[in-house]
Amino acid sequence: MPELPEVETTRRGIEPHILGRKITGVIVRDARLRWPVPKRLAAMLAGKTVKRVRRRAKYLLLDCGDGTLIIHLGMSGSLRVLNGDEPVRPHDHIDVLFDNNARLRLRDPRRFGAVLWQPGEPERHKLLEHLGVEPLGDEFNGEYLHRASRGRSVPIKQFLMNHAVVVGVGNIYASEALFRAGIHPRTAAGRLSPERCERLVQAVRATLDAAILAGGSTLRDFVNTEGKPGYFQDQRLVYDRAGEPCRVCAKPIRTIRQGQRSSFYCPGCQK
Ligand SMILES: [Zn+2]
Repeated sequence: MPELPEVETTRRGIEPHILGRKITGVIVRDARLRWPVPKRLAAMLAGKTVKRVRRRAKYLLLDCGDGTLIIHLGMSGSLRVLNGDEPVRPHDHIDVLFDNNARLRLRDPRRFGAVLWQPGEPERHKLLEHLGVEPLGDEFNGEYLHRASRGRSVPIKQFLMNHAVVVGVGNIYASEALFRAGIHPRTAAGRLSPERCERLVQAVRATLDAAILAGGSTLRDFVNTEGKPGYFQDQRLVYDRAGEPCRVCAKPIRTIRQGQRSSFYCPGCQK
């Protein structure tokens, strides 16, 4: 499933090809995504210019001035930039065509993705309006995390994965960040000191930044590629490493279940 770093890498990959370009058409081959693609999408988008290419949580936002095209990659979606036409493969559901002959092609085998139009401010869309702060933004800081977690007995791992608190910290990145911060995933969120909250925020940022960098380095150019930024598998410190030695203290990495998800941690480094 594309996580925040993959979506951010996708944003950076497509931006140079579509920013400032005029949309000349839209081809919808299959409108049955997670929500139906708007019937009049082509008519609504034709002639509009892409003024900004933003990301909010795992949503890509193509700001077209008087409205925004919202794209979510769901479980299996990917975007490619093509120069001109190319043979359509199965699951290539949507093309957005631009005046520089580029086309943005959405492929989504499981069709849990979304392509939606929101007039006015995209943050007012029901999918976006209740989202928590961005993990790479200024609002996510130690003070915020400390304040938000007071009185909460939920384990910090699950607290960190709650989108109303902070968006885009998926299972892999939560495990990795807690290791970097030296915090046991079962620690009650409300018991973290201000210092540990600050350390955790920095760890979340460092983990996501490393993944974005890894994705960016595996995919320099979005043109005519698979459009699938790589995960940072080689860099994983604890995730999916149960039984393997900790890279810091050599104790075997352990796994536990939390909220139907696997957590990975080092019993030596994380308290
Ligand atoms: Zn360790």
